[in-house]
Amino acid sequence: MTSSSLAVCPKGTKLYQVSSGTLKLNKAWLTAMRDFGKMIDIPVAMYMIEHPNGLVIFDTGVNPEVAQPNDPHNYWGGVADAFFPTVTREEIIDKQVEKIGHKAEHVKYVIYSHFHLDHVGGIELFPNATHIAQKEELKTAWWPEPWQRPAFVQKDFDDARNFNYNQLEGDWDLFGDGCITIMSTPGHTQGHESVIVRLPKTGTVVLTGDAAYLPENLQGALPGIVWNPEKAMDSIEKFKWIRDRENGQVWFSHDPEQYNAHKHPPEFYE
Ligand SMILES: [Zn+2]
Repeated sequence: MTSSSLAVCPKGTKLYQVSSGTLKLNKAWLTAMRDFGKMIDIPVAMYMIEHPNGLVIFDTGVNPEVAQPNDPHNYWGGVADAFFPTVTREEIIDKQVEKIGHKAEHVKYVIYSHFHLDHVGGIELFPNATHIAQKEELKTAWWPEPWQRPAFVQKDFDDARNFNYNQLEGDWDLFGDGCITIMSTPGHTQGHESVIVRLPKTGTVVLTGDAAYLPENLQGALPGIVWNPEKAMDSIEKFKWIRDRENGQVWFSHDPEQYNAHKHPPEFYE
């Protein structure tokens, strides 16, 4: 990538990509009706961004109770038989923060794509942070539709009720400098959001969260888990607009090929 005239993160901003272990699942969860029955191993992407104004996390992976040697059934129940998590305690988000030289209590902002069990699991590790989610997602998480309930594990956030939240209704420029922009991308869940990071050297990076799991979703494959399919496909269109407008990259939440090709700590993107 060449540097872009749109790049607006201050010099010294660093983007790290890590994973909260792996899940093994039927690929049709990710690409509806396509490759049904094909089992694949996928990463559970999380991001840490060092910005001069503070350390920011986007998505927190699974809860420490899911990590080995615990039996994930004890915490996730039957969902563990659909997504088969394999995660060590060292891969949980607080340990990932330590690996890049910080402490969990120093994290300033935690942004959530949504409140499903593989994205919000680490929320209670950051009681001092400001937590950023769509207001609609907070309402959904604390009272999901009955058919959505297995994926919203109440134990993940039952002690996070009184945390400090920025509850968004739409888009938000985190530091007012255009570096980290939160974009409303409903469809996967009612209040899903994605993050755009505009780095001086790497250029524009769109962090999809679960609004798109794999490149196939950008090519027309409906995501296999959706609250609202029309909104889900509209949100995917937004990724393409930004990619094309800014010659940017789209980083997927659960794409093993892309994840394995990327740099990971101690390496970073700047
Ligand atoms: Zn996910």
